[in-house]
Amino acid sequence: MTESVQDQLRRLMDGVGPGEDATPDMLELTGIVKRYGDFVAVDGIDLRVPRGEIFGFLGPNGAGKTTTIRMIAGVLEPTEGSVVIGGNDLATHPVEAKSRIGYIPDRPFLYEKLSGGEFLRFVSGLWGKDEPASEDRADGLLEIFNLLEWKHELIETYSHGMRQKLLITSALIHQPELIVIDEPMVGLDPRSARILKDLFRVYVERGGTVFLSSHTLEVVEAVCDRIAIIKEGAIIAKGTMDDLRTLVDSGGADLEEIFLKVTGNEDMAEVVAGLQDSSF
Ligand code: ATP
Repeated sequence: MTESVQDQLRRLMDGVGPGEDATPDMLELTGIVKRYGDFVAVDGIDLRVPRGEIFGFLGPNGAGKTTTIRMIAGVLEPTEGSVVIGGNDLATHPVEAKSRIGYIPDRPFLYEKLSGGEFLRFVSGLWGKDEPASEDRADGLLEIFNLLEWKHELIETYSHGMRQKLLITSALIHQPELIVIDEPMVGLDPRSARILKDLFRVYVERGGTVFLSSHTLEVVEAVCDRIAIIKEGAIIAKGTMDDLRTLVDSGGADLEEIFLKVTGNEDMAEVVAGLQDSSF
């Protein structure tokens, strides 16, 4: 009998998850601010994400999502405040903090003249994980994503979706405790998007944590345990879907309606509701 994708994922995710002395919170942001000259891109965000949660981070264009994510991933230094990953402050213990993160940026840099397999070996080497077990794990993910037959082709020949799948695979090589991912579904075909959702679920079942930012609200609503909505660099709503429905005083609201209401696009929320009610 062939192994199901879920079972394959469970096998590949073995070993993910915290050690026994792990802190209950995977991610703690305290008062993080990012200023560019006089412009405040992120304006004092406080957030705690417990282990085992899929956390969604939403906001209108320019709200500060990518800036926040880059500060969590340790590629951008906050002007003020602290980022703590599994009990390790990024500013004072950067290696311990960063080794726990698998970061998948929205505008990644890939070495076009390497093959997918060479790139994965390069990433494994950076983490000191250049070993057969890492390659087997990576091959397993490539196979699930239908990318194994492209492993020896140059990245410059890859489509956008293939690059995204290679990056997701590379971010999991060192078995991080936290996946930080900006716009996970962009470029993925429906089967790959489904696999990624399953991967997130299996990953958190195994004790991992996911922090994701996306404009694809139905995906966020379907996969996230809790959600924060930011606007102009500050959190304006946070909680489970039920918490957010209570906040907007609408028991049946979906995430799109909630998003439009809390971000101040109520006119748009009415237009959307009207279209849904119409016979078209
Ligand atoms: P989108 O949904 O459009 O991707 P976002 O929420 O991810 O938006 P950010 O990319 O975090 O938004 O940008 C937040 C704000 O900070 C924007 O107004 C952007 O122009 C500004 N910004 C980002 N990087 C810089 C920079 N290096 N210098 C100056 N301003 C910047």
